[in-house]
Amino acid sequence: MRAVRLTQVGKPLEEAEVDRPEIGASDVLIRVAACGICHSDEHYRAGISRIDHLPVTLGHEIAGWIEKVGADINHVRSGDRVCVHYLAHCGSCKFCVRGLEQFCRTGEMIGKHRDGGYAEFVKVPGRNAFVLPGEIPFEIAAIMMCSSATALHALNKARLKR
Ligand SMILES: [Zn+2]
Ligand SMILES: [Zn+2]
Repeated sequence: MRAVRLTQVGKPLEEAEVDRPEIGASDVLIRVAACGICHSDEHYRAGISRIDHLPVTLGHEIAGWIEKVGADINHVRSGDRVCVHYLAHCGSCKFCVRGLEQFCRTGEMIGKHRDGGYAEFVKVPGRNAFVLPGEIPFEIAAIMMCSSATALHALNKARLKR
C-alpha cells in the first residue's frame, strides 16, 4: 500500500510502498478516508518534538471505513464509518481504568510511536475505533479527534460554568 512517511528529521515526508498491516485479535484495520495534518506532525518533521522510531508513517487524526476486524472485536464491523482515538493504550492499568490513558506507561501515540494514517490503511487497537454518525463527514471527524478533543478537555479541566 502507499504511505507518506517521515524518514529523516528535517527532511520532507516521502511517499513509500509498505506492507499492508496485519492485525491481531484485538485490532481493526481501517481504510483511511481522511487524515488531518496536525501541528505535532510539523514538530516531528522539524525535530522540535522528538521522534525516535524512523521511518514512521505520520498522521494521528484519522477517519475511515473499517476494512477488517480482529477476532475479539464486536463493537464495529467491516464497512462501518469510524474515527480514531490517537493514543493506543493498555486499557487496564490504574490510569486507563480511570479514563486517564494519557498517563498509561505503555501508551503509544498512533502516527508517532507506531504507523499512522498517512497511508491507505492503518492498524489500530479496536478500542480506539468509534462509530461515526452519518452526518459527520470524514474530513471533520478526522480533525475532531485531536483539535476538538483537546479543546474540550481543556474546557472540562477549567470547570467552565455556563
Ligand atoms: Zn493532532
Ligand atoms: Zn494503561
